[in-house]
Amino acid sequence: MALGKLRKAARVILVGPPGCGKGTQSGRLLDHFKLSSISSGDLLRQNVRAKTPLGVQAESIMKSGGLVHDSIMVKLIVGELSKRGWVETRGNMASGLCLTGPLSVISKPSAPAASDCPSASFLLDGFPRTQSQAKSLDEEVQMNLVVNLDVPHDVILERIAGRLVHEPSGRVYNTTWNKPMNPGVDDITGEPLTRRSDDQPETFAKRLKAYAEATEPLLEHYDKAGVLWTVRGKTSDEITPQLDAEIQRRFA
Ligand code: AMP
Repeated sequence: MALGKLRKAARVILVGPPGCGKGTQSGRLLDHFKLSSISSGDLLRQNVRAKTPLGVQAESIMKSGGLVHDSIMVKLIVGELSKRGWVETRGNMASGLCLTGPLSVISKPSAPAASDCPSASFLLDGFPRTQSQAKSLDEEVQMNLVVNLDVPHDVILERIAGRLVHEPSGRVYNTTWNKPMNPGVDDITGEPLTRRSDDQPETFAKRLKAYAEATEPLLEHYDKAGVLWTVRGKTSDEITPQLDAEIQRRFA
């Protein structure tokens, strides 16, 4: 379903505790507004699977439910943003122009890093998670909407108990709220669904605590920058229409 064409670039961050339905909202935004996205958790898991040096470093931290070091995360995300052409390395940027060819054709050393062209819209899911990551990101690109997904804790705990994922794509299901068409297999590929190892109750409680500690300053940071918007709801279906309307209001 295409809800609306964007008139200017939306650079959106989704912030919310693990299990709040970030993945679901991210998928729906991509579908409704034809955005592209980067999920920091998915990128890390890809690196872990491929046994890259970064993946090897991150694996034990992820298994224990801690946060991967800021410097690793910034390198990973900024590298991915540049790879996809959404930001240019400094000194080689062409912002504000809607180009059909590669941005690097034009070199404008003093321009900001992001284009306002709607096709340069993107969504970050899971990054930044700390104020320090946010500050590093600010140096590369100014995000223009930070969505704080506010879902009650009891709802989150219930959801995690039934969460299943299709690892290669990052598609998320739930045995109660969002069942796959056939039990235990992905709707699109028919491949098996798995439980995430960090969804075990003890690890999960640790992740919720780490989230709360790290996120408060992050939300303050974006509130000060005037780009924070909070949406409340118990289910993804309650949140989606509110989020769609806000994106339309700001960018369409
Ligand atoms: P997620 O899929 O977003 O829940 O992330 C899974 C795990 O990856 C987290 O529990 C962290 O260990 C790690 N991780 C993902 N994103 C970040 C980030 N921005 N900063 C630090 N660690 C992260």
